[in-house]
Amino acid sequence: MQDKIDRLPELAKKRHNENKGFFTKLRKKPPKQLDYLMQDLHTQEFERTDCLQCANCCKTTGPLFTDKDIQRISKYFKMKAQLFIDTYLRLDEDNDYVLQRVPCAFLGDDNYCSIYDVRPKACREFPHTDRKKFQQISNLTLKNIAICPAAFNIVEEMKKRITL
Ligand code: SF4
Ligand code: SF4
Repeated sequence: MQDKIDRLPELAKKRHNENKGFFTKLRKKPPKQLDYLMQDLHTQEFERTDCLQCANCCKTTGPLFTDKDIQRISKYFKMKAQLFIDTYLRLDEDNDYVLQRVPCAFLGDDNYCSIYDVRPKACREFPHTDRKKFQQISNLTLKNIAICPAAFNIVEEMKKRITL
């Protein structure tokens, strides 16, 4: 797995133009069954992929924290929300709360998330490949395939299964 993760940025770069062209066409004419297909591709890929062998998303990017995330997680730690923010978060250029640093402070050496049950919504949904109207997040997906081996494989499979 680590070998694939190390090669992913280069692999994603090589496929970038092809993937960009594919998503441009997909946005113009998404197949009627796209939501169902994405559910299938996502489920099949995550039956094969063990995130505990990877954790590359937690190590390299980290999520946005919504107000609800902050309230829920700070409550879990029995901390005031402002103290949680001051300890772990910063505002990014879009004024969203993100981690002060990566790897995420809540990631263990065994790749387990220490706040799994209360983790941010963005962590639960990453890499968003089972999202409805998947064609609408193609720019985000183009970035995510350089981070997430599962997202890379799902996009490769999409290109085989969808004729545009
Ligand atoms: S979601 Fe993707 S990047 Fe994150 S641990 Fe799973 S395979 Fe790795
Ligand atoms: S909160 Fe948990 S799932 Fe989210 S980035 Fe941190 S370690 Fe990963």
